[in-house]
Amino acid sequence: MTKIPNVSYTQLVQSKLPAGGVTIFSVMSRLAEDVGAINLGQGFPDFNCSPQLIDAVERHMREGHNQYAPMLGVYALREALARKIELLYGRHYDPATEMCVTSGATEGLFSTLTALVRPGDEVVLFQPAYDSYAPAIQLSGGTPVYVTLRRPDYCIDWDEVRRAITPRTRVILVNTPHNPTGMVLDQNDIRELERVLEHTDAFVVSDEVYEHIVFDGGRHESMARHPTIAERAVVISSFGKTYHTTGWKIGYCVAPRPLAAEVARVHQWVTYAVNTPIQSAYAEMVARDPMCTEVTSFYQAKRDLFLRLLQGSRFRPIACRGTFFQVVDYSDITDEHDAEFAIRLTKEHGVAAIPISPFLSGVEPGPVLRFCFAKRDETLERAAERLRKV
Ligand code: PMP
Repeated sequence: MTKIPNVSYTQLVQSKLPAGGVTIFSVMSRLAEDVGAINLGQGFPDFNCSPQLIDAVERHMREGHNQYAPMLGVYALREALARKIELLYGRHYDPATEMCVTSGATEGLFSTLTALVRPGDEVVLFQPAYDSYAPAIQLSGGTPVYVTLRRPDYCIDWDEVRRAITPRTRVILVNTPHNPTGMVLDQNDIRELERVLEHTDAFVVSDEVYEHIVFDGGRHESMARHPTIAERAVVISSFGKTYHTTGWKIGYCVAPRPLAAEVARVHQWVTYAVNTPIQSAYAEMVARDPMCTEVTSFYQAKRDLFLRLLQGSRFRPIACRGTFFQVVDYSDITDEHDAEFAIRLTKEHGVAAIPISPFLSGVEPGPVLRFCFAKRDETLERAAERLRKV
């Protein structure tokens, strides 16, 4: 490009996401690395996935499954997912026409929102909100309309949802189990959502990446379970959380045929197809153990251990009913802003956490931080020893 005199690149480029900096997850992980802190910030395990899964990937690679997968995903994986979803949630999705394997849930969300949101549309979503939602909505010319989940239980105020709905509401975006709060939708929420949907044509986009991480015997209320919602919902999940493989970035969307077709049209031009040998390996894992109950009890034990370890500290845990995140109230320690305190905690006490403010728009965060407990027991023990001294 020839340099145009007196015009800066910022003026030339006119960013489509002018408010966006680097995601908080990268910022805190980088800081943790720089100062050698224990990283309870970004949500990823510090232990390995199962050797059988790695063996299966290797076997598929050696058997030559190394070229483009079908655009919608390896068929054996889609079939296994269809059986799993039917077994767990009672709804049949046709593997040929109602599913799409994506580059992580992130691409699933992006392709879905790109398919559905048109300029001028509104998307009702709940904050604190996972930070990929708003940019995906805005890039399609849509407007995020936030309903705030409030401490201490972060439950949805359905009257506020009703007030947020307008004739321009195109999508209601839900996330259960909820990152970062650990809130889980229950059957009452489902009834409320069903009532809300009676008065709008909006679609539902449901981020269920933590579907297998629900505690204390609770039930995951997948939108796939509830026919009136499922008929207009795109349900999105990810293998990263369930199989301790966040770095492999494979997820999927399921939806009734006309909706799934629109998602696939976008997916086709975003990535076309996803990593073949890993999909084939996941197909075996899903078929072998569709219920994934082990991961539920595994993380229940981690959450319970982390809560026990926090006893005697001045961090007050807020009830966590799902996900691998524990939100804590630090008001007994300091009145610092959450981002400031997260940085100081990392530098001075050697434990990285994620502040909640980057998940919020236009409201004060309050004195809370998010810790990730998807870590080895000894990591949690070492971190908690430091936290008890704060
Ligand atoms: N949604 C939520 C709520 C998440 O926490 C994450 C991962 N941190 C994602 C979506 C993205 O999942 P993936 O890594 O499969 O893209």
